[in-house]
Amino acid sequence: MFLTYQAYPPAFSGQWLDLLAFLLLIAVVASMPITINSMYIFLIQWVSLAAFLKFGLFIEMVLAQIAVIVLLFKLRIQKSELFRLPLNMTMFFFVSLLSGVFYYELGGQTGPSFETERQAILLAALYAVAGYFLNQVIVSFNLRFVYKRRENYFGKDFFVETVTTLITFPLGFFLYMFYNQVGVMALFFVGLPFVSISLVLKLYYSTEKVNLYLQKAAEIGHEMAQRLHVDDVTDLFFEKIGEMLPVDYAYIFEPVNEQELEMVRRLDQSGTNMIPRMKKHEGISGYVWAQEEAICYSSRKDWLPFTKGFLPEDAESLLAVPIIRNKKVVGVLTLASRQKRAYEKSQLMIVDILCSSFAVAVENAKNYEQTKMHSERCALTNLYNFRYFDHLLHEEFAKLTRFERTSLSLILLDIDHFKVVNDTYGHPSGNEILIELANRLRKLVGGQGTVARFGGEEFVVLLPDAGKQTAGKMAEMIRESIANWPFNLQQSIEPGKKQSVQITASIGVATAPDDADDAMSLIRHADRALYVGAKRAGRNRVAEYVK
Ligand code: GH3
Ligand code: MG
Ligand code: MG
Repeated sequence: MFLTYQAYPPAFSGQWLDLLAFLLLIAVVASMPITINSMYIFLIQWVSLAAFLKFGLFIEMVLAQIAVIVLLFKLRIQKSELFRLPLNMTMFFFVSLLSGVFYYELGGQTGPSFETERQAILLAALYAVAGYFLNQVIVSFNLRFVYKRRENYFGKDFFVETVTTLITFPLGFFLYMFYNQVGVMALFFVGLPFVSISLVLKLYYSTEKVNLYLQKAAEIGHEMAQRLHVDDVTDLFFEKIGEMLPVDYAYIFEPVNEQELEMVRRLDQSGTNMIPRMKKHEGISGYVWAQEEAICYSSRKDWLPFTKGFLPEDAESLLAVPIIRNKKVVGVLTLASRQKRAYEKSQLMIVDILCSSFAVAVENAKNYEQTKMHSERCALTNLYNFRYFDHLLHEEFAKLTRFERTSLSLILLDIDHFKVVNDTYGHPSGNEILIELANRLRKLVGGQGTVARFGGEEFVVLLPDAGKQTAGKMAEMIRESIANWPFNLQQSIEPGKKQSVQITASIGVATAPDDADDAMSLIRHADRALYVGAKRAGRNRVAEYVK
């Protein structure tokens, strides 16, 4: 810039006020980007063109540099993107320098008079075209080598840049001519409508953006409503909110009672210790719960004094929203981002709408899950009930006939003389034994098969891909685990005295396809083995079906 000053001294003779007006105008224009589809368009070229024609290359350069600084400040670049400042300043510097030198070399002068010289207009136009081309070359160089993008060169950026040049060039011309006629007032007369139009456009696009958000929120609401499980609903919720806002961490809290919140879900790879519970008014989420009002912070130092310490070290922006259903807070959503100023107040409304649909979807999913559980499980032992087992058995049999399974074994168990147990210790004690037996079976079988309550004191185990031998071994293990360890009664009939009961069970085993061709006969044959082979043979034993 020093050399530029030497080579092309500015055509400046103390018009400090005018210069200040130009500076002000370019700064205002730079701070008002027009956003279209999340792309920023800066229209500073017309001001810089007029300044160039009036004051020469050096002053145009200085103004352009200031515009870049204002522009990037307005964009709120993150610390990690600070390199964009020198990058863009260098880029603007070269565009200014090369197109300016080009202009002078062609014989262009500072302060030309367009009324008299047609050639001057042509030169100024060439200056603008040169600036446009240089800009294109440098931008595409940057995209390829600095940002490493592989997009089509004649893409959106190219189109926007071209349109921008076509608009700004005549405007810059006009500003220059008008300035020559009326002086510094010209800046005001041209600047004011320009700034007003920018503002109107900005408002227009922000409503467009809100519309788009609303539409998206409605779609997400429908999608969430279709999910039947709470986890699926939450996954989708996190996923979609992450697409709409910059989210690095997300947490959902639910009240466990009138005074405490519990974290039920989180999206957080930082490994920060999580606070399992939070009291009302405590921490950020506890505060949002109590106040029933959303809060939004733009950097770490703003919320640090209030936090309970579960948020990761690098979280900066924070947004916490109450999840409200039927005028009652049913949860709190807390979002955090590593960026500063990631959330705007205007986004709160959208998050709020999403939270409402989320609350409805979660409630429906919870109802569904609960209804399903009730219809599938036995209330006493929490094992699957006969209905579920019957369905599963037919499904597994279908797999067997499609050769997706090698074999299918069924173990049927009946407690010996359980009526006597009931008569001696009482029905509630009998129930306790059934519960304890269910637990033992669940532990023994684990992931190898499915345990279900077949009826009163009868249980069934379904073992897919288990042959006769495996099933027989499992049955024997079950028998021993019952006969060898007495069952402790908690609510014994004599208070203060611990009671334990010794019981045994008889077990029948049948395996398809060897023993049965269909689901019903597999049950029938296991039952036959149980009664003929085990009960009649003296009980407390395992019997396999024999034809
Ligand atoms: P065995 O099978 O060895 O021939 O004798 P058992 O006494 O077990 O035979 P039975 O099938 O006649 O009696 C089963 C008893 O199980 C009858 C009933 O009182 C008891 N029972 C069934 N369901 C429950 C239950 O849910 N709770 C309790 N406590 N007892 C039950
Ligand atoms: Mg029975
Ligand atoms: Mg029995």
